[in-house]
Amino acid sequence: SSAVERIAQKHTGFSIQPEQYDIVGHHLLETIKELAPDAATPEVINAWAKAYGALAGIFIGREEQLYQQSEQKIGGWRGKRNFVVKEKEPQSTLITSFLLEPVDGEPVADYLPGQYLNLHLTSPKLTHNEFRQYSLCQAPNGKNYRIAVKREPQGVASNFMHDEVQVGDILEVLPPSGDFFMQVSTDTPVVLLSGGVGLTPMRAMLDQLLTTQHQADIHWLHACENSSQHAFKNDLAERQKEHSNLTTQHWYMHPTEQDSAAGFHQGLMDLNAVKEQIMMDNAHYYFCGPLPFMAMIKEQLLAWGISEDRLHYEVFGPHETL
Ligand SMILES: Cc1cc2nc3c(=O)[nH]c(=O)nc-3n(C[C@H](O)[C@H](O)[C@H](O)COP(=O)(O)OP(=O)(O)OC[C@H]3O[C@@H](n4cnc5c(N)ncnc54)[C@H](O)[C@@H]3O)c2cc1C
Repeated sequence: SSAVERIAQKHTGFSIQPEQYDIVGHHLLETIKELAPDAATPEVINAWAKAYGALAGIFIGREEQLYQQSEQKIGGWRGKRNFVVKEKEPQSTLITSFLLEPVDGEPVADYLPGQYLNLHLTSPKLTHNEFRQYSLCQAPNGKNYRIAVKREPQGVASNFMHDEVQVGDILEVLPPSGDFFMQVSTDTPVVLLSGGVGLTPMRAMLDQLLTTQHQADIHWLHACENSSQHAFKNDLAERQKEHSNLTTQHWYMHPTEQDSAAGFHQGLMDLNAVKEQIMMDNAHYYFCGPLPFMAMIKEQLLAWGISEDRLHYEVFGPHETL
């Protein structure tokens, strides 16, 4: 089912191993015994052990398949692989992009736009080793990966990436994973909706659509504070000139004077204002951003009668059902 797939994708992103299920299972049973000593009869504990074992078996099996798929791809691998930071470029006042190339000089595996990398960060500057996920933000090219990181106030990994990681540094990277991705035929209209740093997977999707000469209409609607926080905006403006089927619209919460003069929408994203343009019979809608933003988008699209199977979203944190 989709829940198993989502969890298995998360687990493989973290490189979870079969033996770790035994540890979790052991502690689960011990916790039940400790918190409900009267109910935890041998029969109950055996039943829990059986149920847990069955579930663990499903995950271990699916995760092994995913590990093998990653490993067998051209440029694929299993576990951690060293990548060197080739470029580090500020893309807005808050978001910096990193171009990562494998140290071994070999190709890198393809991925589906929307998927992410898991970085394993270790440094004397960090109190603990940290795992963090970052969406790939360009179409696959077999040679390198690009991610973009927003500096979060007090955020451990994002500030480390911004302040400490430099061009030439080596990072440990796990293979691309994730169950949020775009796979559409060339005659399917695509609507991308992003808020803040939620634009990273959308950029990979757009890149893929444009490099494959997508035939149907493409809309990208983005909301953020103002143009100074709008990452990759110049690159987007260039691409729009070259592709007549691409329409972009931006909402700025607190536009600069220049933004207002340029005629961008002000305030929160308002889908009703663009309903006629983006409501298309067979379009697919991809969205990513803060939870209230995504809940608003989903509610609005469902209210227009768009079926749920055409809505796809990613949460930049533990999964939440909107
Ligand atoms: C599938 C997926 C894809 C993602 N893609 C991207 C991406 O493309 N780009 C991107 O930038 N991020 C992305 N993320 C988010 C990213 O993985 C990290 O969660 C993010 O960078 C924050 O990590 P951090 O270590 O900086 O923050 P953490 O230290 O983990 O803190 C998380 C939040 O808690 C707050 N916080 C931390 N410490 C305190 C404290 N003491 N008191 C109060 N508040 C505190 C911080 O302000 C921060 O907002 C993605 C996440 C997922 C799950």
